[in-house]
Amino acid sequence: MQRNELMTWIHNQLQVDVFKDYAPNGLQLQGKAEIGHITCAVTASLAAIEAAVANGSDLLLVHHGWFWKSEPTVITDWKFKRIQTAMQAGLNIAGYHLPLDAHPQWGNNAQLAHVLGLKMQAQFGHQNLLAQGVLQDALSLADFNQQIETALQRQPTVIGRPEKPIQRVAWCTGGAQGFFQDAIDAGVDAYITGEISEAQYHLANETDVAFIAAGHHATERYGIQALASAIEVEFGIAHQFFDEANPA
Ligand SMILES: [Zn+2]
Repeated sequence: MQRNELMTWIHNQLQVDVFKDYAPNGLQLQGKAEIGHITCAVTASLAAIEAAVANGSDLLLVHHGWFWKSEPTVITDWKFKRIQTAMQAGLNIAGYHLPLDAHPQWGNNAQLAHVLGLKMQAQFGHQNLLAQGVLQDALSLADFNQQIETALQRQPTVIGRPEKPIQRVAWCTGGAQGFFQDAIDAGVDAYITGEISEAQYHLANETDVAFIAAGHHATERYGIQALASAIEVEFGIAHQFFDEANPA
């Protein structure tokens, strides 16, 4: 199908205009006009670009694209290599950041809920980026920790009493440790995000709200795959997921 037609469809489905973001959402590098095969990945890294080129994709669809607000604007060094590799192959690159985190069905938060056995009940907080829900049956923090490790294939960093019963949970995928206070205010038993900073250790101990850092990459693998699957269902464009062993 035509690239521009697909970009418009995604733009509308993800309600891109509703979000204030730190990077452009949508087409970031123009390639071929026709899309017949898609590679999706968490990040538009050189490895992901090379994989997409090798498997004959026309579009690399990612959660972490390029041109972040804090990033140097010149095209040199690693950024040059990425752009050059994609351009030589006519590979389109499209990124969807916050709109993909928050989408109620295909979003990273909604998809992480499926993976971890959480029932999502509400979205709240800054730009609706946090999700809130419950575990069907309460688990001790130690058992929940084990369940997360098995589901994500990565050992989380957990701050809290191992015997604490966990039922009400808030979460936000990626680097959302800064939203811990919103979760505490929401009265949940535990908060899950990707990363931890120094301060959350103390907050978790002093509030008895468990803090679980389950990996930025690990918690954000699922939204982009759900979006690519939705595209496949809607338009019949096949896709494949490129994963990396990113421990962060
Ligand atoms: Zn992220």
